[in-house]
Amino acid sequence: MKKHIPTLACLLTLTITASLRAEPAHEHGIAHLQVALEGQALRADFDLPGMDLLGFEHAPASAADEAAVVAAGTKMRDAAAVLVLTPAAQCSVEKVDFRAEKPEPGSVHMDFVASYSFRCVQPAELRGFKTGIFTLFPTLTELAVESQSPAGVRAQKLSGGSPDYAF
Ligand SMILES: [Zn+2]
Repeated sequence: MKKHIPTLACLLTLTITASLRAEPAHEHGIAHLQVALEGQALRADFDLPGMDLLGFEHAPASAADEAAVVAAGTKMRDAAAVLVLTPAAQCSVEKVDFRAEKPEPGSVHMDFVASYSFRCVQPAELRGFKTGIFTLFPTLTELAVESQSPAGVRAQKLSGGSPDYAF
């Protein structure tokens, strides 16, 4: 009987992950962030409108367009500028991915995805984070955050005036 328990736990995790990962609506000025803390592993996935990152959302068509994509990537790859985690948790970034999402057929919109993997030595000390995203990209007005951690599943909208998230 015992051997079935991990399977069930696994299924539950998959279900929660799937519901959190639903494709967010594309709205200029609004970015989305999904955060998951499991053991020492902290994962953060941003979905960001190209308009706020680049000032345009067509496929890069000039050297200036390409430079704007590189500049946005440089900002997003600076994990410590994007997410300031509780220092006592001793989290260090292990991997950052930044890429354009393939647009829906016929869509004029473009999204970018930025994913961060952190390893936290003291995950029990992790209370939350402050985001610097509103300073990096000033046209963003809202970051809709959903998190799952040992504290439970939570959601909160952050803004430039209120950039702190607590699990
Ligand atoms: Zn758009």
